[in-house]
Amino acid sequence: MLGKSPAWQDAGGACSGYLIEEGDTALLLDCGNGVFAKLREHVDYTDVDAVVISHVHADHFIDLIPYAYALLLTPRQQPVPVAGHPGTADPARPRLIAPPGAEQTFKTVVGAWGDELLIDQAFLIEAYDASSEVQVGPLVATFAEVPHYVLTHAVTVRSTAGGGRFTFGADSRPAEELVEAARDADLLLIEATLPRPERTGIRGHLTPAEAGEHARRAGARRVVLTHISDELDAEWAREEGSNAFGGPVELAREGDAFEI
Ligand SMILES: [Zn+2]
Repeated sequence: MLGKSPAWQDAGGACSGYLIEEGDTALLLDCGNGVFAKLREHVDYTDVDAVVISHVHADHFIDLIPYAYALLLTPRQQPVPVAGHPGTADPARPRLIAPPGAEQTFKTVVGAWGDELLIDQAFLIEAYDASSEVQVGPLVATFAEVPHYVLTHAVTVRSTAGGGRFTFGADSRPAEELVEAARDADLLLIEATLPRPERTGIRGHLTPAEAGEHARRAGARRVVLTHISDELDAEWAREEGSNAFGGPVELAREGDAFEI
């Protein structure tokens, strides 16, 4: 659990970012603001096999920028000896698995200061959609579109080496699609952004009670609320979520690890 904040970081925290490991394989799910520093506390960023992005809102992808600079500029990734590093003909270039259209968004963002190909050069970009089944080592990721302000997918990850089914609900307004995406999850990570439902405009997020209710309808076994600010009362959120789920839900905490 690298980052669980909503669109602005908790004090000392990070936005959406979850590290999934199986054996030597590492998959980073989302890379929001603050996540790159948290990633570095746990693994070598050149050892990450793939980054999967749920949707291109800043709090889910913006740290691809420092990550890309690291991959391109760090001395140990250079083809010639630099600063005591021997040089490499084979620099790490993790896969970047993102929704359709994301590549153009990346170009537009970094193109604002003339570095249009920054993310393209650092990563191997590939697009997924709701019909994709993406394999990263023993990990298999599948996707389900959920309604949010931009094209967004819930991501389910399982392993060919066994274990359970993990679903990350991404960001979503209350929706049957989210229930279906989370169906029978052994571990459901579900957003609980709001202290109360949005009062104007199109809805885009869930309250803790709505998150618990979706988890109950999905038959999820273990439920962790995420995308929740340290400015919301944690006890209140846990209680609201648990009452709606019909059992205890947990609150995401950075640094926590779960075995599935
Ligand atoms: Zn979002």
